[in-house]
Amino acid sequence: MLDAFKICVDRLLEGQVQKIEGSFDPSFLEVDEEELKFRAPVFVRGEVYAADQHLVVHLNASTYATMPCAICNELGDWEIKIDNFYHTEPLSEIKGAVFDLGPQIREALLLELPSYVECGQGKCPHRALIAPYLQKTEKPKDNEMHFPFSGL
Ligand SMILES: [Zn+2]
Repeated sequence: MLDAFKICVDRLLEGQVQKIEGSFDPSFLEVDEEELKFRAPVFVRGEVYAADQHLVVHLNASTYATMPCAICNELGDWEIKIDNFYHTEPLSEIKGAVFDLGPQIREALLLELPSYVECGQGKCPHRALIAPYLQKTEKPKDNEMHFPFSGL
């Protein structure tokens, strides 16, 4: 647990607002896959406070995800942002004196991941090379559809 993400619940109950601001090592995102990596620091700015028996998280965060272009497979960095993220949690459901903000930020950022990325701002230079194959997939001829390998 990153120290900066430890929220002391007792202090919130005393009316304190805990501010979080900084750039953090992306290791707390716990993602390191061939097709998805986080290598850039995660910038977080926000606050946590208590209101109406709830813990309230309000923050902005941004970082870059390293993902391969869907066409040419070239790895690129894609900005991932959460603006005005709100999360509330009943204080009665928080176990212990410390609330870890890390998983909240992690989940919110992962939800913003695009399912499809293409380099060249959506115009991958390799697109022209594979265009004929894309068309074939979209409109298969009858014989190709039923016996795709019959010519082999
Ligand atoms: Zn590409």
